Amino acid sequence: MNIGARLQALYSQPGDRQALQRVAAAFAADPHEFVLALRARYAADPTLGAAAAPSRSPTWINHGGNQTVYARQFVHPRTLAELQSIVAEVSERRGRLKAVGAGHSFSDIVQTDDVLLDTTSLLNPYNHGPLLPLEAELWHDPSAAAQRVRVVCGATIRMLNPVLARAGLAFSNLGGYDAQTLIGAIATSTHGSGIELPPLPDAVRSLVLVTTLGKLYQIEPRAGITDPAKFYRRHRQSEIELIQDDDWFYSVLVSLGCMGVIYSMTLDVLGSYQLRETVDRDAWPAVRAQLATPDFIRAHRHIEIQIDPHYAGEPQRRCNVVRRDAVTNAAERRDLPPLRRWLAAFAVTPDAQGLIVRLVNDHPDLVPSLLETGLNQLVTDEPHLAPSYDIYNLGAVNRAFVTAIEFSFPLQDNVFIAAIDRLIELMTENRARGFYQIGPLALRFVRKSRAYLSMMYDRDSCTCEVAMLNGVRGGDDMLLAYERAMLPFRTRPHWGQRHELTGTPGWLSAHYPMAERWLALHARLNERGIFDNHFTDRLGISSGGQ
Ligand SMILES: Cc1cc2nc3c(=O)[nH]c(=O)nc-3n(C[C@H](O)[C@H](O)[C@H](O)COP(=O)(O)OP(=O)(O)OC[C@H]3O[C@@H](n4cnc5c(N)ncnc54)[C@H](O)[C@@H]3O)c2cc1C
Repeated sequence: MNIGARLQALYSQPGDRQALQRVAAAFAADPHEFVLALRARYAADPTLGAAAAPSRSPTWINHGGNQTVYARQFVHPRTLAELQSIVAEVSERRGRLKAVGAGHSFSDIVQTDDVLLDTTSLLNPYNHGPLLPLEAELWHDPSAAAQRVRVVCGATIRMLNPVLARAGLAFSNLGGYDAQTLIGAIATSTHGSGIELPPLPDAVRSLVLVTTLGKLYQIEPRAGITDPAKFYRRHRQSEIELIQDDDWFYSVLVSLGCMGVIYSMTLDVLGSYQLRETVDRDAWPAVRAQLATPDFIRAHRHIEIQIDPHYAGEPQRRCNVVRRDAVTNAAERRDLPPLRRWLAAFAVTPDAQGLIVRLVNDHPDLVPSLLETGLNQLVTDEPHLAPSYDIYNLGAVNRAFVTAIEFSFPLQDNVFIAAIDRLIELMTENRARGFYQIGPLALRFVRKSRAYLSMMYDRDSCTCEVAMLNGVRGGDDMLLAYERAMLPFRTRPHWGQRHELTGTPGWLSAHYPMAERWLALHARLNERGIFDNHFTDRLGISSGGQ
């Protein structure tokens, strides 16, 4: 039976179990053909994909398509001096300015109606590359230069990976995508998985910040890498001030764009390495029991778990367990299989995703079969072996029009297990009402961070990401319901992902023990309110300069 006929059968016998399974199997067998068949099926429908034209063109839209910015001005400085002069001008007139990286945040943190500042125009002004000179000669120990890089704002992780690889270097850990700017990712405490591996900000040793009135600071922790005597032999304090202070450093590291524009960051990196990855399918109850013991999480450099929240006809709820370990560079490369083909199908084109969303809105009970089939496709017959950054990157699925929410729970007292139980229970209740969670619960484990507003500040954490395809009926309400249900579990939502319930008075201080120190520095650096926006207004942390 061809795919078109299977779809026809699904529409003529809605809810028929065999028809659902046949459609899911067709999707798994050839996602591309499947999308073509869907397109043919819906071709006659004039309403498909006909979005209403916006009354006014937005200045900028984020990657997820859920944040539209109507800025008065969109500026693209090309040099540090231009950047300083823009920040000075906006501060003088007490305007508002927001820096944007690659726009891979779903939350309202880059909203502004005044000046939006594109950091991607600021690549190295001499060679347009992502790295700047280290200035290791100004350090206490210049020999450490071999394993450090200085990254300019606007440089994406995708640009940086091959440049580091050519130098025999690699980041110690990365998240699941590479299109973000490294500095934008660090600004929201982006993380990968690995209980011995903290989030990205913890690799930073020094940074350069342009703040109110265009003032320039180089900021480091108390025992910073730079020798102040050498620094001031080269630079005048009136041009750039060196601050070596823990409160400054651990506040500005994760400053959410609220303290200024970070021009550069100097980070520790590793010698390049390969990763070996396996993905096994297992029963969630058994994995859940093992998660309660620390050994399971610590047995590999990286553990990730993708839980299917639906039964999908299985006697027990299933999950995928992803394990990754570093191997020597001499190991033979075994490429990633077409595994990610199923995931990539969501991202083929916006049109393809629109078709799939249309299908699951018409047949929500198809979701469990699709999800189960997809998770099965990720299982490895033999391990993958590839350079670390290839393994970290989940690839094309990241281009799908998805928005996501991510919760960070403390590992202590197994709070995270109770929270996940509650999420699955809620998804089961929603399913009974006809609302289906379309993606898995993706668990990662992250070592505690020293950055004051990192979601992992001072606690080893389990993060749980829940994604929703844009346009799925009830999707926004489901995400909000998950956020509300997670409030009792000491959760800190990812700053860059959806979060709407974080603005109640006292929330920040109740969840972040160092919030008062962060806020004190914020009030000082943002005294004119230039870095305030909708997000800071909502959180009640604006300096109110306007
Ligand atoms: C497909 C996808 C995959 C993702 N995968 C992961 C993952 O695996 N792990 C994870 O933890 N998160 C993940 N995220 C979230 C993402 O990493 C964060 O939202 C990150 O902050 C986005 O980086 P960006 O360069 O796009 O920054 P933007 O979204 O443009 O900006 C984020 C914040 O940084 C500020 N900012 C940007 N540049 C500067 C600068 N130079 N100086 C000061 N402030 C600045 C902005 O003002 C804003 O507040 C993912 C998001 C997407 C869309």
